[in-house]
Formats: sequence, C-alpha cells, structure tokens
Amino acid sequence: MGKRKSQRAAPTKSKTIQPLDTQFDCPFCNHEKVCDVKMDRNRNVGFISCRVCQESFQTSITYLSEPIDVYSDWIDACEEANK
Ligand SMILES: [Zn+2]
Repeated sequence: MGKRKSQRAAPTKSKTIQPLDTQFDCPFCNHEKVCDVKMDRNRNVGFISCRVCQESFQTSITYLSEPIDVYSDWIDACEEANK
C-alpha cells in the first residue's frame, strides 16, 4: 500500500518537435502564406492549394516527406511549365 501513481502534473515544456510550417507563398498570385499543404499519409499524396487564386497541385509523398517537399515539388513543376 501507499503506492502512489506517478502523476505527471507538469506539462512537458521542452518540445523537440516543432510544428512544421504548412503555409507557403503562392508562386502564382505572389501572396504570402496562402498555400496550405495537406499530407494524405494513407494514400501517400500531398496536396497544396492556394486559397487566394485557387491554384492547386498534388504530388506523391513518402513517409519522410514534409509539407515543404510538396511545396518545392510544386515550384519545380511551375518552373517546368514555364520553360
Ligand atoms: Zn495564389
């Protein structure tokens, strides 16, 4: 008896993982932080779309992919299209 449950009252302060930025500047309308990335981890697809000009793009992702990867794929695709 007298065995107390170790309660964790204090919230963990030191978070090593920071929330990733999922909002990026739009290469089409040049507004800042208007492109939202959604990572569909089940289907391995990343979506990005601009809420101002409605441009959108999707690309395949891996479990290692981050929103920035989807965005950079989009930028690459834009540059390809502009050749
Ligand atoms: Zn846009």
